[in-house]
Amino acid sequence: MAPGGLSGYRPMLFVAMENFVELIYFLTALLFILGLKRMSSPNTARSGVIWAGIAMVAATLVTFFLPNLHNQGLMIVAIVIGTVVAWIAAKRVQMTDMPQMVAIYNGMGGGAAGAIAAVELLRGEFAEALGLKLLAILGALIGSVSFTGSLIAFAKLQGLMSSRPIQFPAQKLVNAAVGVGAILLAIWVLFSQSGLPILAFFLLALGFGVLMTLPIGGGDMPVVISLYNAFTGLAVGFEGFAIGNAALIVAGTVVGAAGTLLTLLMAKAMNRSLWSVLVGGFGVEQEAGEVKGSLKPIDLEDAAVMLAYASKVIFVPGYGMAVAQAQHKLREVADVLEAKGIEVKYAIHPVAGRMPGHMNVLLAEAGVAYDKLYDLEDINPEFPQADVAVVIGANDVVNPAAHRKGSPLYGMPILDVDKAKNAIVIKRGQGKGFAGVENELFFADNTRMLYGDAQSVLGQLVQSLKKL
Ligand code: NDP
Repeated sequence: MAPGGLSGYRPMLFVAMENFVELIYFLTALLFILGLKRMSSPNTARSGVIWAGIAMVAATLVTFFLPNLHNQGLMIVAIVIGTVVAWIAAKRVQMTDMPQMVAIYNGMGGGAAGAIAAVELLRGEFAEALGLKLLAILGALIGSVSFTGSLIAFAKLQGLMSSRPIQFPAQKLVNAAVGVGAILLAIWVLFSQSGLPILAFFLLALGFGVLMTLPIGGGDMPVVISLYNAFTGLAVGFEGFAIGNAALIVAGTVVGAAGTLLTLLMAKAMNRSLWSVLVGGFGVEQEAGEVKGSLKPIDLEDAAVMLAYASKVIFVPGYGMAVAQAQHKLREVADVLEAKGIEVKYAIHPVAGRMPGHMNVLLAEAGVAYDKLYDLEDINPEFPQADVAVVIGANDVVNPAAHRKGSPLYGMPILDVDKAKNAIVIKRGQGKGFAGVENELFFADNTRMLYGDAQSVLGQLVQSLKKL
């Protein structure tokens, strides 16, 4: 027996358990990063998600081995409730509703980071360590903004509130006042132990998240969601430093870095500066211009003839293709055209559909070769040579209103379908795009409207083409 009796073993056991937990955290961090790497290609993305999921489960389970852990019963109840709700929700969600789902889960992450900080601050945990307290407060601020901001983004995307920008008089002034107020209270919290400023700080931080998101229009949601994703990652990382948890530091940093890169990519795709994202109020609806011309329908047979006699066809998929699950039929149409010796390409807009990479994933699922998908910059110079550009349930991403000052879409790069020799637009009726702006492309002289659900129209088109 060691000197000091049995009690001498206890600290050794504690150290051994802590080391064990740290080791597993390290391995899960590696798995997170490898999983994330695999998510960068559609071929390996599925396994990447599974790897990262295994890492998450392992990191959660091993936390129970940390010495001095309390309230394990409550933790298990929370985990069970969270797992059941998330499992059912994820099983039921439609692919096209994914952004809402990402927004709400993201918000929960930010809220959790804020809640950790709230508990630690109220318990006066950081009395001796000002640096750690600062990190906890920063995490609380960013996490709270991400929490309520994501809830508003969720409500807008889910149609629970209007996706149009919501404005009120002196909005920018009020937003700035609330933001500055939250920062001043954060400084007060840093140097005080009292509960009141903590409460006021959280209220203003949560309010700022709401105010910051209200004036942002639906079309700009991709940037907002990825920004809050980055915020949540940062908040979790800060809280990890504050409470000394390596798993939170690694997971938060990875999410924060990935979210920041995604935000920059999305902002570039929408042609918005990051600063305009941060100060909010972009995408504010302005007066839309008049649309001239008329909608000219085309029937299936004529559309099939137009395609069969083309030498170059560019397909432009959008949200409507995802809703209709028309990717397989689209591929069949492309196969028939290619069999006739026609050159076929797919033009992919970075924000087409409702999540980054949405079109790539669907077309890959339908077996379309990756080298036939072209990014906006690569395909745009080719539209003038295309005999027919076929728009399948896309709207905002092909709307030339984006070139016109005063349009809510102004500045967003679009696919230049209006420059093709002919355009066929497949959609069900006269529904507007996500940003709610009329599309002058549909009224152009060389555009024909092929009305109907994308899957059924493309299915019939295959049959008509085969007869030619
Ligand atoms: P849009 O949402 O602008 O337009 C989709 C069109 O599809 C509608 O006009 C609709 O017209 C048509 N449609 C709907 N259902 C069907 C169907 N079953 N068959 C045929 N057509 C159908 O899509 P885009 O892809 O052009 O643009 C994406 C928009 O979503 C952008 O504004 C983007 O900013 C935003 N967004 C993108 C995210 C992302 O990460 N990619 C995330 C969140 C928002 P009709 O009703 O007449 O059929």
